[in-house]
Amino acid sequence: MNARIDATKPVVMVVEDEAGLVTLLRYNLEKEGYRVVEAADGEEAMLVAAETTPDLLILDWMLPVMSGLEVCRQLRRRPETRETPIMLLTARGEEGDKVRGLNTGADDYMTKPFSLPELMARVRALLRRRHPAQAKGVLTFEDIAMDLTAHRVSRGGRAIHLGPTEFRMLQYFMQNPGCVFSREELLKAVWGPGIYVESRTVDVHIRRLRKALNLPNEIDPIRTVRAAGYALDTEGEAGVATKELP
Ligand code: CA
Repeated sequence: MNARIDATKPVVMVVEDEAGLVTLLRYNLEKEGYRVVEAADGEEAMLVAAETTPDLLILDWMLPVMSGLEVCRQLRRRPETRETPIMLLTARGEEGDKVRGLNTGADDYMTKPFSLPELMARVRALLRRRHPAQAKGVLTFEDIAMDLTAHRVSRGGRAIHLGPTEFRMLQYFMQNPGCVFSREELLKAVWGPGIYVESRTVDVHIRRLRKALNLPNEIDPIRTVRAAGYALDTEGEAGVATKELP
């Protein structure tokens, strides 16, 4: 039932135990031309994800058997779903939970009850970012190399694994080395115009990018510019990898 039928349509997997919400999401996603696969609990989600390799997941936090956060964590450990965009849904609205969700590997986050047009816009944006139109060739900065064609990143020859958002962020920095970007500018460049994401989200992804790029004694190539933003340049220092904007 969940086997891939039309390989040309992006597959969106909806992981949610509220049947009414699944019906609503399925109806609207199919109307937009996506194929929809479903799972109603965390364990089923892992099985269906392995079977169908979805292009994007809409994942509820509160699920039977295994939480959405745990599903997210486990999917990120599998090579085939390491870079699959994940939109986390939750009834909780606390800032700490959002950060926790994003730190677990989700790319975006919406609090229930959400606006359906906004969710659809974010789904489109996440899928667009997964298949960037003009991204070809190799970018280099110091010892960092970014192969946009093969979608590979390395530092000093060591492979770096980035989630889709960190990949886009690093790509933007590497296309504009030395430029200082505010959180708002990064939001627009990495998430796309018209997508509402809280500016603190930028810090979460900067932290993830730094963690992926830097070994403990390596120079952090991302500079935090007080009251201005972030830049990729050669003035970084070793051991300041956790510094963030106030
Ligand atoms: Ca639920």
